[in-house]
Amino acid sequence: NKMQVEIIRCLKDNYSYLVIDKQNKLACVIDPSEAKPIINFLEEKNINLKFILNTHHHYDHVGGNSELKKKYNAKVVGFIGDKDRIPEIDIFLKDREIWKYENFESKIFHIPGHTSGHICYNFFKDKLLFTGDTLFSLGCGRIFEGTYEQMLNSLNLLKTFPEHTKIYCGHEYTLKNSEFCLKNDKENLKLKEKIILIKEKLNHGAPTIPSTIKEELECNIFLRSDNKLIQKNLNTSNELDTFSKLRDLKDIF
Ligand code: ZN
Ligand code: FE
Repeated sequence: NKMQVEIIRCLKDNYSYLVIDKQNKLACVIDPSEAKPIINFLEEKNINLKFILNTHHHYDHVGGNSELKKKYNAKVVGFIGDKDRIPEIDIFLKDREIWKYENFESKIFHIPGHTSGHICYNFFKDKLLFTGDTLFSLGCGRIFEGTYEQMLNSLNLLKTFPEHTKIYCGHEYTLKNSEFCLKNDKENLKLKEKIILIKEKLNHGAPTIPSTIKEELECNIFLRSDNKLIQKNLNTSNELDTFSKLRDLKDIF
């Protein structure tokens, strides 16, 4: 069984994703910022929406919940800790729970930091990981509700997924993120190679998503806070201080 992922552009720079079971013409949507572009795609392809999966409660990730739920009689799925702030939530998930419906099978991980209730969805059979606003390609989310340590722990958990896992994140921030990475990691050849590919994709009007765990481990500076050369450049001596300093610098970049 193979799931197809469709990238749907929403709002200014958000991505929503459809995970499609082509056999049954059923889909889940991850983080619908708005309903319209999702409906347009589903109508055109004659696919039925069964579930709305939210990574966190921010409006640019749940804005389409109500309209999609009403139109398709879909169920809204999210973290139990956010049951009072995810609009129209029906199914409450716990950390490390496996959520399953027919061919859809996803493990949930609680990854706080950006928000206290942020989760990611790992469709492990398909090696897909939906990281919301926690891990971006070449970046990470701002810390709104957590501590630096929580965010670092969440990112370190994501580092343990199989290398060829595909990363689908909430925003197209990759180019700007790449400039920050390069500024603080000037000798990184893999990063330079990835930047060339990123620019090619963007020049063709294509998304830079998905990335992979492997590429992020090699190039994303926020996953490299334990790297001695980066620590030397930043004049820090441990992973948490390095990560915290990078996050602060990125906030004003
Ligand atoms: Zn957010
Ligand atoms: Fe967002």
